Amino acid sequence: MSRISYVNGKYCEHNNSYVHIEDRGYQFADGVYELIPFFQDKAFLLDKHLLRLNKNLSEMKIENIYSNDEWRSYINKLTSYYDYTNFYVYIQVSRGAPKHEEEVLRQHHYYNEMEPTIFMYVSEINLLPEDKIRKGFSCVTLDDLRWGMCNIKSISLAYNALAKNYAKEREAFETVFVKKGIITEGSSSNIFIVKDNVFYTPQLNNYVLPGITRGYVIEEIKTLDYQIQEIDISIDMLEKADEAFLTNSTQFLVPISSLNKKIIGSGQAGKYSCELYEKFKKSFNWCYNFFYNNCDCCNWKNNGWKSF
Ligand code: PMP
Repeated sequence: MSRISYVNGKYCEHNNSYVHIEDRGYQFADGVYELIPFFQDKAFLLDKHLLRLNKNLSEMKIENIYSNDEWRSYINKLTSYYDYTNFYVYIQVSRGAPKHEEEVLRQHHYYNEMEPTIFMYVSEINLLPEDKIRKGFSCVTLDDLRWGMCNIKSISLAYNALAKNYAKEREAFETVFVKKGIITEGSSSNIFIVKDNVFYTPQLNNYVLPGITRGYVIEEIKTLDYQIQEIDISIDMLEKADEAFLTNSTQFLVPISSLNKKIIGSGQAGKYSCELYEKFKKSFNWCYNFFYNNCDCCNWKNNGWKSF
């Protein structure tokens, strides 16, 4: 399978896909991105991702030159080059590169008639192994020193990248950002806790990305008739939670086992995390014995999961 990517209306060999060095995405992080997951070859929450892309472009005053139907058709064509089962489409839209001689040489202000640079590529999703999900993942905390527009899915991700590396250096899975004692989100995820059978997640503000998975999980929690509150969550609340988990588009739900080496809850995936994960898999007709740990159809105990 040769890797094809989309650049400004053309489908190109991935290794020969380029944008101009003067592109404002490259020099000013002047752009936004989206990541659309496909599970069992089906786009997951595509309309919600396109809606967020449109909103973010408008916040950044970058023109969305495609209608939703056009986005869908370009995405369909791009994904037709691949035969992955679980994968994502990464979309990046930057303000573009200056076109005229007098506009070059790195002006901070931009020109209104600039044409956005759009590229998309496809990458396979390797879901976290289910036995590891059951065990949960360790997290560390770090001061949230990002810019104040984290509600926009901007390509300005340098601090997020440093934070992810901070976790890696400590053999942790994710860094959870803390602003004045309040949890905001993970370096590439939203966060939930459960205490006394009630779910809590940080309320949306300019330090929290309105994650598409976050929104979906909130709706699922309500469908299951559990209570959910969007409030400020202190480090103390997170440390004393019965369970906690992260959400994002490529991993869906990741239970947290410890924070800064302190055990959270039971120190492994809690029952609500398992229930939500199971429900998610069920919606794709995956085997859904995650919570109960036994299954007629795939013999989980001996072989682990298999999808069908
Ligand atoms: N917050 C941040 C900082 C992220 O990078 C991500 C993943 N892009 C999320 C939250 C989760 O968002 P989503 O569920 O839309 O993937």
